[in-house]
Amino acid sequence: MQIAVIGAGLVGVSTALELSRDGHEVSVFERGASIATGGSFAPHGAIVPGLLQGPPAWGLRLCGPLASTLPVHWPGQWRRWRADHSERAASARMMAGDLARLGLRQLTATTEAEQLEIEGSRGALMMVRRQADWARAQALAESLSTIGERVELLSADGARLIEPALNGEAALAGALHWPLALSTNCRQLAQSLKSASQRLGARYFLLNAVQALRPGTRPAVFALPTGGDGLPGAAPQEFDAVVVCAAADSAALLRPLGIRLPWQAIHSCSVTAPLRDGDEADQQLPRGILLDPDRHLVISRLGQRVRVAGRARPGPPRQVPSSSDVAPLYAALDDWFPGAARQARAQAWAGAQPAFADALPALGPSGVPGIWLNLGHGAHGAAWAGATARLLAERLAGKTPSLDMTSLDPQRLR
Ligand SMILES: Cc1cc2nc3c(=O)[nH]c(=O)nc-3n(C[C@H](O)[C@H](O)[C@H](O)COP(=O)(O)OP(=O)(O)OC[C@H]3O[C@@H](n4cnc5c(N)ncnc54)[C@H](O)[C@@H]3O)c2cc1C
Repeated sequence: MQIAVIGAGLVGVSTALELSRDGHEVSVFERGASIATGGSFAPHGAIVPGLLQGPPAWGLRLCGPLASTLPVHWPGQWRRWRADHSERAASARMMAGDLARLGLRQLTATTEAEQLEIEGSRGALMMVRRQADWARAQALAESLSTIGERVELLSADGARLIEPALNGEAALAGALHWPLALSTNCRQLAQSLKSASQRLGARYFLLNAVQALRPGTRPAVFALPTGGDGLPGAAPQEFDAVVVCAAADSAALLRPLGIRLPWQAIHSCSVTAPLRDGDEADQQLPRGILLDPDRHLVISRLGQRVRVAGRARPGPPRQVPSSSDVAPLYAALDDWFPGAARQARAQAWAGAQPAFADALPALGPSGVPGIWLNLGHGAHGAAWAGATARLLAERLAGKTPSLDMTSLDPQRLR
């Protein structure tokens, strides 16, 4: 089929790759001058499947930046959600974990098959500072083990063996350890996936803002080249299917088609700092991912840099993070890994994403002929991008998808 993908963030690029792998002729429209300049620019990029699936009271409280879509963004809905022990809520949490596991497998397979070299780190430690929280950590580990998640409980000494640079004076009762968790440089990953899809024939039209979509058996894309002499009303380009992966900006394209999706914008920020000079600097940074549930933030190693990302909050994106946004990130870095990074040379970034009330994405046919959706990944797009791309490709090809997609159907939101 000839398929158009709208938006070249991590989700759009992953979609283009999976569709190209299935032999489709893929055209990607991106309004920016390069790819992954939106929410995929400098997020944390951590994939810790079990965190998305833990029992709500403990799991969500602990994993703030990774799975905090609901508690902080929609207080009313979050309260209902937390109180909701219904089968539907439990199955949504299960789906969140399954998507992350499939995403992790996809990423690992793609990295090996394409021989990609992506900055990142493996293994995550969730720090438990107080002894009073230890029983809950044990309960979480046990409940995750029963569903096959590989997670270990470590003493404080055990945690320091995994992360030798941890501040020896920081209070620590122990940690949960996910040896298979992964964190990547999302922008670099997106660029590598783009190249992989181009090798399979995908074409990228940068500086092409899609203005409108026309549904039908041959749906059409009206794109306006923003960097050149493009004229409004340029000739529509027809395809066999159009997949919308334009995150929150999808709303402007879908509304005229009668598709109104009830999402909430969430935003968060990160700082990325290079190592200090000196032979020992390398020994002062984390080796893997460190989850700090009390502060709701994540620290991880990205090659010769360290990235700290904070909790997602409701509201529209900020252009530049304020000093009050980034101060807690630096404070946490100093607390866990004192003096390790060159904060004066750090880059601060703020990004935003749409999220739905059940914290799952909208994936599949939109209900309007020829228009498909892969959006609304909220705080979990790095973990889910590979999975939702593969599922969409399977569904488009009429195959039985690797996971039951019922709970991701966009119709659930209408
Ligand atoms: C601080 C922070 C930390 C995060 N940490 C994690 C984490 O640890 N783990 C995790 O799994 N996820 C994390 N996330 C979430 C994850 O980064 C996002 O869910 C993911 O990057 C979303 O990718 P996307 O492709 O859907 O959106 P985007 O990257 O925003 O891409 C959308 C693209 O569409 C383009 N576009 C929009 N409108 C048009 C149009 N009309 N025509 C053409 N192009 C258009 C945009 O220019 C953009 O390039 C984090 C997010 C933030 C902000």
